[in-house]
Order: sequence, then structure tokens, then C-alpha cells
Amino acid sequence: MRIVYVNGQYLPENEAKISIFDRSFLFADGVYEVTSVLDGKLIDFMGHMKRLERSLSELKFAFKPDIDQLLEIHRELVKRNDITEGLVYLQVSRGSAGDRNFLINKDTPASLVLFTQRNSLIQSTLADRGQKIVTRPDIRWRRSDIKTVQLLYASLLKTEAYAEGADDVWMVLDGFVTEGSSNNAYIVTHDDTIVTRHLSTDILHGITRQSVIRCAAELGLTVEERPFTVAEAQNAKEAFSTSASSFVCPVVEIDGTKIGTGTPGPIAKRLRQIYIDANRATAL
Ligand code: PMP
Repeated sequence: MRIVYVNGQYLPENEAKISIFDRSFLFADGVYEVTSVLDGKLIDFMGHMKRLERSLSELKFAFKPDIDQLLEIHRELVKRNDITEGLVYLQVSRGSAGDRNFLINKDTPASLVLFTQRNSLIQSTLADRGQKIVTRPDIRWRRSDIKTVQLLYASLLKTEAYAEGADDVWMVLDGFVTEGSSNNAYIVTHDDTIVTRHLSTDILHGITRQSVIRCAAELGLTVEERPFTVAEAQNAKEAFSTSASSFVCPVVEIDGTKIGTGTPGPIAKRLRQIYIDANRATAL
């Protein structure tokens, strides 16, 4: 059975408990991170921890994470669950004040939960065949830069996309693509420029995004951080998405229109490989 971590204890998953008054349960008052594991090691752990600190500080959590301790917990869970390839999920919530109350009490201790998932990340049928995307309006709250557990809209959209035979959704705000349901969105123009929306409160500041932009620059590719429309994406040479769990994943269709040749593009495929090689080499 899987061993999980809850507030200082390593427990079998069926013995782990959180209060029904926990603010993540009642108010979605929690933030999270997902770190990939390759070869039993953590990919870009420090990137994820920096973003965790930012999410907590934007939401004015009193809790200050001890990054060395979090690294130890991540490693211990990877070891105890014998994960060579998969994910570590971490969630910090503003805890339970023993009742339901809209007012936040800063003295309530935070809850910390971590668990692992065993997944095949390198071998991916989706990356091999490329994703079919449908677009939907981005009606999320306007702080999509904070990685909160408030994921209902993304979850509904992804489920709807599957029901329609698509793989995922790109969200559109004021005519421009923001990001995918759980990934950042990119296109490659006909002169091989990579375009992805600039950082703001409208998108999550992807840890994979940061690394892939660096990889692209090392390949001598130009990266433009600016908004793009669905029409520009449909006319692009290539498209792809990035996230910690899917790395770089090609997109072959948007709202029924084939992108380029309708097969995973060479730049997306190359970036996927380079991203994996570079991050494997620096994994903790
Ligand atoms: N955007 C959203 C909305 C996400 O949920 C995610 C995945 N957590 C990303 C982008 C990609 O971020 P990362 O590369 O850090 O996984």
C-alpha cells in the first residue's frame, strides 16, 4: 500500500486523515505543487519550491515552508514507495480552525500533505500521436498565477473535452489563448519562432515553461512572449504544451483544424528530448 505524508507522519494511505473543517476542503484555501520523478530523482525541485513560496506569500499564508525538510519528505516518499518514474504531489492548506468561518485566523496551523503517483512519463502515447485541443472561454478567477487547489473549472473542461473526443482544452481570454487546462500553451510560427503568452496574473508561471524557454534559447530559437489568437495557432507550423508531468507535448489539432502536417512537429519533439536530457542531468 502507498505511504503518504500528513502533518508530520508517514502513514499508509487508508490511515491518513485531514479534518472536515480543513480550509482546503471548505474554501479551496490551499496551494499545491507537482514535481516529476525520473530515475528516482526529483525534476527541478527548487523551481517548484520557489513557486510554492510565491503562491503562499501571494495568499498571505503565515506558513513558511522549510525547503530542506520538504526535500527530505519528497525523497523519503519516493524511497518508501519505490518510485522510479512518477510524481510527488504536495499540498499546503490553511488548516482547520475547528469550524467553518470565512474569516481567516492567522494562528491556525497549516496542513501539509504529500503523496506519490507512479506514472510513465517518458513513454507517452499522447506525446507520440499529438494532442487534439478544443478551446473554451477562460472564466477562472483572475489570479491564475497562484497555484491553488481550486481546479474545478479545469477539471470540468478536461472532462468535456474527453467526451468530445479531444485530449485537452486551451482557454481563451479577450480573444487570446491564456493556457491549457493544466499546462502552458505554445505555437511555432512559419519562421520557427516560438510564441507563448507572457507572464502575468492570467497564467500559471510554469516551471517547465521556464526551463523549455531556456532550452529553446540554447538551440538558437527565438522565443516571443506575447499573446496569440486561436486563428494564429490554427495557422501555425507547430503547437505544443508544457507541464511538469507531460514535459513538452505536441498539439496536432485545434478546434478541428490540423496544425501544420497534423503530426507532432520536429521542434516540439526536439524540445521534449532536450528538456528531458537537461533536467535529468540536474535532478535531485
Ligand atoms: N498552467 C496550469 C493551469 C497548470 O495547472 C499547470 C500544471 N501545474 C501548468 C500551467 C504547467 O506548470 P508546470 O510546468 O509548473 O507544471
